[in-house]
Amino acid sequence: MSEASKHGPLPFAITLDPGSSLANKTGSWRTEAPAYVDRLPPCNDACPAGENIQQWLHHAEESGYEAAWRQIMADNPFPAVMGRICYRPCETACNRAILDEPVGINSVERFLGDEAIKQGWTVSVDAPASGKHVLVVGAGPSGLSAAYHLRLLGHEVTVRDSCPEAGGMMRYGIPAYRLPRDVVDAEIQRIADLGVRFELNTTVTDLQAELDAFDAVFLAVGAHVGRRADIPAGDSARILDAVSVLAEVEQGDQPLLGRRVAIYGGGNTAMDMARTARRLGATDAVVVYRRTRDRMPAHEIEVTEALEEGVRMRWLSTITYADAGRITIEKMKLDETGFPVPTGEFEELEADSVVLALGQLSDLALVEGMDDVTITDHVVQVGAHLMTGHPGLFAGGDMVPSERTATVAIGHGKKAARNIDAWLRGTTDQRPPRHDLATYERLNTWYYSDAPATVRPRLDVARRISTFDEVVGGLDASTAVFEARRCMSCGNCLECDNCFSVCPDNAIIKLGGGKYEIDLDFCKGCGLCAAECPSGVIEMFPERL
Ligand SMILES: Cc1cc2nc3c(=O)[nH]c(=O)nc-3n(C[C@H](O)[C@H](O)[C@H](O)COP(=O)(O)OP(=O)(O)OC[C@H]3O[C@@H](n4cnc5c(N)ncnc54)[C@H](O)[C@@H]3O)c2cc1C
Ligand code: SF4
Ligand code: SF4
Repeated sequence: MSEASKHGPLPFAITLDPGSSLANKTGSWRTEAPAYVDRLPPCNDACPAGENIQQWLHHAEESGYEAAWRQIMADNPFPAVMGRICYRPCETACNRAILDEPVGINSVERFLGDEAIKQGWTVSVDAPASGKHVLVVGAGPSGLSAAYHLRLLGHEVTVRDSCPEAGGMMRYGIPAYRLPRDVVDAEIQRIADLGVRFELNTTVTDLQAELDAFDAVFLAVGAHVGRRADIPAGDSARILDAVSVLAEVEQGDQPLLGRRVAIYGGGNTAMDMARTARRLGATDAVVVYRRTRDRMPAHEIEVTEALEEGVRMRWLSTITYADAGRITIEKMKLDETGFPVPTGEFEELEADSVVLALGQLSDLALVEGMDDVTITDHVVQVGAHLMTGHPGLFAGGDMVPSERTATVAIGHGKKAARNIDAWLRGTTDQRPPRHDLATYERLNTWYYSDAPATVRPRLDVARRISTFDEVVGGLDASTAVFEARRCMSCGNCLECDNCFSVCPDNAIIKLGGGKYEIDLDFCKGCGLCAAECPSGVIEMFPERL
């Protein structure tokens, strides 16, 4: 084969005549050689559900919406839900944030999730039946994610939940103005359509009997018991807890909060409770929190939206007494370590009810008394494979030590499914080692023009406080594609042909299908390809002399 035909089509922007370049094998001059390397984009690394974000953004960029959605579904069965409620650690990690603003990964994910619901896309079980049957206890994001992945791996799956409907906190905690229930229903229905059996209104009480009846059990019972605070209170004080109130609202009840509601706590649940109270007719919803705004565990956007809706904040305050129609608060100050300490200054506030939003505990009655299951600090201890000390009993989500978010719970579900599958087959789940991170300094960002992030539409405040309509809108197809195109494809070849075009020695061979190869007979190691690769996927390695 002639050198020219081996190299296929010749690049259009070379500095030497192709004929003369290919006539001289310049490779022997080299002290460093380039090589294509795969790196892990920081967004992928940060997604607790383990999504291959760079890959699905790439499909979306080319308007391959279904392929993009299927790529998400390989890891996470809830793109439309996550596209609304995930706290987006991927965007916090996104390299583009250093250039201008992070890629709106979450809004593209939502667009794809909504598109799938609109188009009726489904998934199917291709794996052969394993003959094994797994029980999942709890139909929250963790249990549902485990059920989905276990079913795709060929196992029979039964999900039991105490509640009348599946979804866990996605249904009975997170308010509908952030997560419309038809979206939750559609993504759960898709899991049911795979053949996962749901037994609702069914509380599991005898775990040993279930372990005997099933081949493995995954526990994902969440954390539903509101933490109490020892607030001295008069007999007629009305003190409620936020998770119970939010669950009542979901079930169509109108909890008796009154017109003036004090919410005690500074997390996201406190914000959800205060905003829900406004929608239920409270004229005054005031959040009482011991520290300052910048130390609030609630996400900034939740605080901002609550303030926009007229929620008042009493930072540096604690409730010292509650009685009918009023509470006493004590002002706090932060000591040099940032710890809140009382000042001895008191104030009275009018409040018909106090709603505690101080976090939740798991009800672990199910495992208490099992000698081989360890409970520490109100959570169940699991090993690296999410198995408890009891063989065949796995656990994940809010009931195990971890960050308590739906995305983490979904990631646990996937991980548990893979480990349960391996355990049932008598093996262990082995994952290939992770690639090095594609950090910002590895990229050549000159290639990317300024492109500010797309802003999602928001409902006007008047509608927000009088209805449970969804507050944040979605992107349309053109804005979603624009947003996907902002991705810099960190650490992954974006097939731009830069290396092929700039190589002065025609040493890059285009293999097709987005693959390239370096012909080291002709590469003299100038490093131009590595310098010009926008995505940082070419690295120079010293030659061994
Ligand atoms: C108000 C609020 C807002 C939140 N907002 C967000 C958000 O915006 N984004 C985010 O990522 N996370 C959010 N979270 C956290 C998130 O909802 C949880 O981390 C997540 O739902 C945990 O999932 P899970 O599957 O472990 O448990 P859960 O979702 O709590 O589900 C557990 C399920 O187990 C069932 N169950 C319990 N015991 C039994 C039993 N013995 N037998 C049968 N069934 C049983 C329960 O009925 C429940 O359905 C929020 C939480 C709250 C409370
Ligand atoms: S699930 Fe969350 S972290 Fe993962 S891609 Fe979606 S928004 Fe990002
Ligand atoms: S630019 Fe793209 S690949 Fe890079 S971190 Fe952001 S979303 Fe991920």
